[in-house]
Amino acid sequence: MNRNVVIGGAWPYANSSLHLGHLVALLPGDFLARYHRKMGDRVIYVSGTDCHGTPITIRAKKENKKPKEISNYYHEEFSRTFDQMNFSYDLYTQTEDNYHKEKVQEIFRTIYDNNYIAEKEENQPYCPKCNKFLADRELVLTCPQCGNETKGEECDCGYTPSMEELIKYGKCQECGTKVIDKPNNNLYLLLSKLQPVIEKFYEEKSDGWRKNSQNETLKYLKQGLIDRAVTRDLEWGVDIPVDGYENKKMYVWIDAVLGYTTAVMKYCEEHNLNYDDFLKENDNALMYMVHGKDNIIFHSIILPALLYSMKSNMKLPDKMVSCEYLNINFEKISKSKGNGITILDLAEQYSIDSIRYFFLSNGPEKKDGNFSAQEFKMVHNSDLVNKYGNFINRTLKFRGIEEIKVGEIDKDIDAKISETYKNVSEDIESLEFRKATEEIINLAEYGNKYYDDKKPWVLFKENEKEFNNVMYNCANIIANLANLFEPVMPDTSNKIKEYLKLDLSKWEKITIKETIKLNDIMPLFDRIK
Ligand SMILES: [Zn+2]
Ligand SMILES: [Zn+2]
Repeated sequence: MNRNVVIGGAWPYANSSLHLGHLVALLPGDFLARYHRKMGDRVIYVSGTDCHGTPITIRAKKENKKPKEISNYYHEEFSRTFDQMNFSYDLYTQTEDNYHKEKVQEIFRTIYDNNYIAEKEENQPYCPKCNKFLADRELVLTCPQCGNETKGEECDCGYTPSMEELIKYGKCQECGTKVIDKPNNNLYLLLSKLQPVIEKFYEEKSDGWRKNSQNETLKYLKQGLIDRAVTRDLEWGVDIPVDGYENKKMYVWIDAVLGYTTAVMKYCEEHNLNYDDFLKENDNALMYMVHGKDNIIFHSIILPALLYSMKSNMKLPDKMVSCEYLNINFEKISKSKGNGITILDLAEQYSIDSIRYFFLSNGPEKKDGNFSAQEFKMVHNSDLVNKYGNFINRTLKFRGIEEIKVGEIDKDIDAKISETYKNVSEDIESLEFRKATEEIINLAEYGNKYYDDKKPWVLFKENEKEFNNVMYNCANIIANLANLFEPVMPDTSNKIKEYLKLDLSKWEKITIKETIKLNDIMPLFDRIK
């Protein structure tokens, strides 16, 4: 049965270049999209640039630019980065997109009319000199835990000051004035009222989630969900479609997390599809959320809460693909700087397929992962050069032959290939991407062992028919490796597709039925020295 699959890749925030932490979190989305397309499923794979919010306005002020100039700059850079890494988004958009802004306001209004967004008065820090309410990160204070100067959001020591502490100790970042306590009206998403809905959702769906998503979500559910402000005093963002809120904007988290929904709607409108098939509850629909572990509750609590509150039978996400952290040279990545290695930097040094293979076969799936040039070189040389590349070279570049004729497929090889498709499918659908890539590389090793056992270099001189049969079997293994590896390494698979004249559009066993001409075959992986 063909499914309607939505894959949502987390929306990167437009104030710094994409680094390796983004790559490990988002790459599984492309892997899933390519796999499901081969399965014959209808796939809509979306993401976009998260453009609004305070960090961009603060930076714009510092650099004497408009916030939009900054978000445009990064949106363009992000698009280029994803293209370079061969991400196959069906739509990569941005929260500054007009369609998105209109739809998000409609959804907001619906939730408000359904009484899941309501007004509340709360005290907030206010700068009497600048005459404005301040966001956490517009405040500076002495951290009550470690004593260092910190911004109002999370301190480097890990402590997040409470609202009372912000009001008591905070100073305006811009003018240094001590803030005062002032009542402010805002609209809130009534998460406390939605607690039973999220509990039921968790019961029904969490079996298909990564462990870290389960733990993080349970932690919040056990503490009890707290109503969360959805409006704020800011000039940069989406307008609030409620009277009396003309001077406020939507909080960036509600605007960005609804981007999955608006992007799928937009894609469907542009491609004559019915978005109910993808976004409304139905037996055929499957929805993945792909993100890093610092983003879990936005996908496992906030998004389902918003979708439910629309009261229009919206489908809630099925699978949480949340990765752990990636360290670089065994050090934690700093959130904004990414330890100095951007995705574009890495793409200048290594082949894109090699990078994709490394981060899918060594991704931080269940525990933190690590990147170092040494480890990268080891994985590339041992798996891609010595196993996969070597098997391709010794078969397709065998000295003294110009073609491989159709022979008879060996029963064991045939069974091994079928089994690999089945196992890899199961691994992918249970979010075990490391295991999936390991399973495929094992097929290359199996091919090398068959080759060594059969000794074609001896058969070449002694038994032409048997020699050709062995080469034919090896070519069949290569054809299937190319097909199985296409979601991981699309460039390499496309080259093999040309060499062997293959159809790689389906997730099913390939059997070569015509003579293969071995002209101009180039080595596919260079050893890293
Ligand atoms: Zn001030
Ligand atoms: Zn601190």
